[in-house]
Amino acid sequence: MGETDKDDLISIIEEEDPETNIPTTLPMMPVRDVVIFTDMLLPLFVGREKSVNAIEEAIGKDRYLFVATQVDPNIENPKAEEIYRIGTVSRILRMLKLPDGRVKALVQGIAKAKISKYLRKRSLFRVKIEIIEEPESSVVDLEAEALMRNVREYSEKILTLRGEYTNEVGSILSSIDDPGRLADLVASNLRLKIDEAQTIIEIIDPIQRLKKVNDLLFREVELSAMQAKIQSEVKDEISKSQKDYFLREQVRAIHRELGELDERTQEIEEYKAKIKRARMPQEAKAEAEKQLRRLEQMHPDSAEASVVRTYLDWMVELPWKKSTTDVIDMKKAKAVLDADHYGLEKIKDRILEYLSVRKLNPDTKGPILCFVGPPGVGKTSLGRAIANAMKRKFVRISLGGIRDEAEIRGHRRTYIGALPGRIIQGLKQAGSNNPVFMMDEIDKLGADFRGDPSSALLEALDPEQNGEFSDHYLNLSFDLSKVMFILTANISDTIPSALLDRMEVINLSGYTEEEKKIIAQTHLVPRQVKENGIKPRQIRFSEGAVLQVIREYTCEAGLRNLERELGSLCRKIARRIAEGEKGPFQVTRQSLEKYLGPPKYYPELDKEESQVGLSTGLAWTQVGGEVLYVEASIINGKGEMILTGQLGEVMQESARAAMSYARFNIGEFGVKDEIFENRDIHIHVPAGAIPKDGPSAGIAMATALISALTGRAVNKDVAMTGEITLRGRVLPIGGLKEKALGALRAGITTVIIPEKNKPDLVEIPRNVKRKITFIPVKNMDQVIDIALEPAPPKKAPKAKKKAAIRKKS
Ligand code: ADP
Repeated sequence: MGETDKDDLISIIEEEDPETNIPTTLPMMPVRDVVIFTDMLLPLFVGREKSVNAIEEAIGKDRYLFVATQVDPNIENPKAEEIYRIGTVSRILRMLKLPDGRVKALVQGIAKAKISKYLRKRSLFRVKIEIIEEPESSVVDLEAEALMRNVREYSEKILTLRGEYTNEVGSILSSIDDPGRLADLVASNLRLKIDEAQTIIEIIDPIQRLKKVNDLLFREVELSAMQAKIQSEVKDEISKSQKDYFLREQVRAIHRELGELDERTQEIEEYKAKIKRARMPQEAKAEAEKQLRRLEQMHPDSAEASVVRTYLDWMVELPWKKSTTDVIDMKKAKAVLDADHYGLEKIKDRILEYLSVRKLNPDTKGPILCFVGPPGVGKTSLGRAIANAMKRKFVRISLGGIRDEAEIRGHRRTYIGALPGRIIQGLKQAGSNNPVFMMDEIDKLGADFRGDPSSALLEALDPEQNGEFSDHYLNLSFDLSKVMFILTANISDTIPSALLDRMEVINLSGYTEEEKKIIAQTHLVPRQVKENGIKPRQIRFSEGAVLQVIREYTCEAGLRNLERELGSLCRKIARRIAEGEKGPFQVTRQSLEKYLGPPKYYPELDKEESQVGLSTGLAWTQVGGEVLYVEASIINGKGEMILTGQLGEVMQESARAAMSYARFNIGEFGVKDEIFENRDIHIHVPAGAIPKDGPSAGIAMATALISALTGRAVNKDVAMTGEITLRGRVLPIGGLKEKALGALRAGITTVIIPEKNKPDLVEIPRNVKRKITFIPVKNMDQVIDIALEPAPPKKAPKAKKKAAIRKKS
């Protein structure tokens, strides 16, 4: 009982004041969840027997009934003390008996009253009451007026916030000008808690009551406003971060309904399929799936999502299980190697041996090959040929200048823009897990605070551990055991020794003019002609032209620039053909300048004159062998030695040794030791921008010094290489073949070499030996005999001091 129907609440029945006739003894009905105020209309469902009896008694008399509220609404049969004492005398306006014995009654509050006594009656409550008279508030003062206005405004606000405000309500509120009645009306509609409503009804003074109602209203307004604010804030928040999400979810739902896949689902599905296809090992697959689940949860446009996407892309594209089948046919392999490479017999033999072993024992963990030689001698093309011969994929990475371990092993994913290391990158590029993997320039690996790349490299190369090569970016291990690594370097000196130990070094040296000519005619020219879209019959190179390109347009150990020059020549001709000329075109010595411009090198002019204090050494550099001029001058000073030309430590020491030797032995040449007293000795090695090091220029420096001290010129056609000791012994050096080729290019005819290097002469191509005389020597005396020209006539001028300048352009 006691359910209220609030729609009907606000309505006032204008009737004659019935208060006067109210009896003092009335049946009483306790109600559970409502407090009835004066004038309030309230429909009630009455079920409790005592209450039905009370209603029936009231109906039987004058329809008056006292309605009071229970303290605790949950009690079924409240006792007298469990019912509030102040309540409202009400009149039953209508009553309807329901078939189930319950009664529906419409009651109206008439007057406030207080129970003064419970009269004993078992079947119903009957009470004696005292009507509570309200003090008359005929004069509504200013304060009351303000209060009423406030209450009206607040009420309207609340009703508006609740969406319950209507014009009718508005006019009722403004029509009431009695503070007490206004208080009751508003209180009855405020949805107050029972105890609060009861507090109000118990305040007798109308102004006080209105004040209390005003307070409650105020609280309610604040609460409602706060609630509205919180709600809108939450809504804002949601709309900012989630609106997109909801919309997208809706779109997805729509797509699902239509049987289509939206972009996002499609992406996820695609990744799922790709992960399946990638045939990853268990551990990798688990990781990929985990990341995919993360991606699914993420906002698709977030930065993190793109990080995860990149990672997944890497994971699915790596050749975890993809490999090519080795086909090793020795005859074909030989044919492939021969077709692409002229000469290099020893090297091709070694490669064929290597392949044979692979063929017989595919599981062999053979040595790692390392091709060492100047640029353009065919290291890369040999690597490619090996891959071709085995029908494997070929990839190539350069390690030059790498100082950071992460370049090899990748950055951890927490770095912005992190990527896997170059090895994993190379494998992705290869698309198979057993490519021929060439790593260039391992002699130019660096190491610093960012870790040592060579140790990471070792892990990749070492057959014992590379089955589980770990990359920081993948955060997983990848099996590199099937990869065939080939390393390349220009010189072997600077290869980290830990790596060098594990490799088989195959030296490739530069080519002689003869060889270059043949390679150009058989390989480079046909290739360039074809690449530039020229038909072979449209163009003819004379032999002389090819030689001239080699001699005057290039100066190198390998073939790179030669190929480039030939390429640019072919392009020029291709243009003429494209412009309509018929040809055929003859490329001859005479027409060369027209295509390639003036020569870049003049080998004859490049050579120095025989001079005092100028000797010719031989250097073994990154780009092959080269001649190296050493200048020595005696100038006024205090007996000091000046070294210039970016000499490394070893070379400086070598210069000092040469100096000491010269000083010790100068007497033999008829020069007095006093010469050192007020003179400085300056040794300079031109081309100062290039750092030079090593001991092999020792004898060249000693020769230049003695030449300067004695005034005997050094023969311009003689070059020399060898380390010097204090006693003038000549010690062996490395890179003789390269140096010999360098000397040949520079037009040298005699090369002095250490006796101990004599066995290396076998390596020197025959046509080089035909043009150059190699003279092995044991000590400095022999060097001087060969290199220095006889002493000039007595009155000849002193040592020439002018610094020689190379005329290379
Ligand atoms: P590297 O890797 O040693 O710097 P490359 O392999 O790039 O040198 O060789 C440069 C060019 O010279 C390539 O076009 C290559 O085919 C060609 N080449 C090098 N050596 C030979 C050779 N022996 N026979 C034919 N062509 C060669």
